[in-house]
Amino acid sequence: MKIGIIGTGYVGLPSGVGFAELGNQVTCIDQNVEKIESLQAGKLTLYEDGLEELFVKNIKEGRLRFTTSMKEGVSGADVVIIAVGTPPHPVTKEADMKYIYAAATELSQYLTGYTVVANKSTVPVGTGDDVETIIKKTNPFANFDVVSLPEFLREGFAIHDFFNPDRIVVGANTEKAANVIKELYKPFANKTKMLFVKRRSSETIKYASNAFLAIKIHYINEMANFCEKTGADVLEVAQGMGLDSRIGPKFLNPGPGYGGSCFPKDTMAMAYMARQNNVEMSLINAAIEGNKARKKQMAERILEAVKDIEAPKIAVLGLAFKDGTDDCRQSPAMEIIANLLEKNANITAYDPKAMGTACQLLGNKITYADDMYHPLKDADVLAILTEWKQFRELDLQKASMLMRHKNIVDCRNLLDAKKAVEAGFKYQGIGKKAEPSTSESSTHQTEVA
Ligand code: NAD
Repeated sequence: MKIGIIGTGYVGLPSGVGFAELGNQVTCIDQNVEKIESLQAGKLTLYEDGLEELFVKNIKEGRLRFTTSMKEGVSGADVVIIAVGTPPHPVTKEADMKYIYAAATELSQYLTGYTVVANKSTVPVGTGDDVETIIKKTNPFANFDVVSLPEFLREGFAIHDFFNPDRIVVGANTEKAANVIKELYKPFANKTKMLFVKRRSSETIKYASNAFLAIKIHYINEMANFCEKTGADVLEVAQGMGLDSRIGPKFLNPGPGYGGSCFPKDTMAMAYMARQNNVEMSLINAAIEGNKARKKQMAERILEAVKDIEAPKIAVLGLAFKDGTDDCRQSPAMEIIANLLEKNANITAYDPKAMGTACQLLGNKITYADDMYHPLKDADVLAILTEWKQFRELDLQKASMLMRHKNIVDCRNLLDAKKAVEAGFKYQGIGKKAEPSTSESSTHQTEVA
């Protein structure tokens, strides 16, 4: 099939590469000239595991192209996928639809023959109707259908998830459009459930799913607070809960709060839609408020560890909102760092993939390290903020010799508390009581190369 994809971000780019790998002719369109020039030059604009190999292969084999020209990408396409951003409106926090409406207006001029316009962006209920109206108004002769095709990929696993989707949800109001999407996803027909629903149901499924996951995270974080007070261990509690098939083990990892470009904005957009429809959604509102407070609590926890130290040095490991990505949008790490900077903290940080994206947000407000040991030099506390696997391998003896004061606040429960204590650290994880250091003093200073 011939596919045009509008938007080459964290959804559009992996999807474009994936559809090309399935044998389709894909043209990715973006208005960001810099991004397109980079992609045309064969240089990726974001990090996703496994993306580069398929990106290079499909360009070489002539199935994948990049352009800033809407005409080039849309003319002759069987399916045009909209994958532009829907960020929170700066004031109301509803989904800001300006990119969707602009894309719909622009693409409508270049539709040729019957085309399915598929909305992969996360959009408020009724957006399919709006896009349809815009296209009809701009191009009354266009022969098209608009479908909702929500995206469920997880950043960091975008390529894996593209080829192994849990489910494919399609909101199509005509059989003709449903059949085109069936054809598009034919390679998955034997292994993935395809759910065909009303367009408005499909739009709702995406928000309902993300809000539910956000609530689940907020729930286990509150449970973690409870465990810290009572002597229970939240990881054991989560394990016990997760064995119940009605609950399931996923999304029961306590941490510094949910982040990223989706959960915060989608919960706020869902809450906004509920208010607009006079529907009380207290759980979502509680998750939003609780999650905001969570980042502050984590910053306070880090500051508490160094409260008696003058001008403390804080070592941060992890800046991305989760492992496997360079995305720092709404990262808990960014918000915790912002809280620490308000208290004039002196921060040196390291992240395996997100140094560039973090630097775009934080500029010279913190110091950037070359590896995971560099921030520890003379630090008074180590704060672990992203669950990168390599941080699990931290050599605690080496860390202990590098640091001035031996304090760890492990917001991801990555390290072994017992080993940290044995290495002389005062260790505070999430959801269990802090482990005091076994050594007399938690101070140690030795030069380590
Ligand atoms: P993004 O900000 O990374 O990328 C959006 C891209 O669209 C940008 O490159 C921008 O330049 C481009 N764009 C905007 N308007 C355009 C126009 N008129 N013409 C051409 N290009 C245009 O966004 P993203 O993270 O890929 O998210 C896209 C949508 O998918 C959002 O609605 C998001 O909620 C949803 N979503 C995201 C994820 C995720 O993990 N990031 C997962 C599922 C769904």
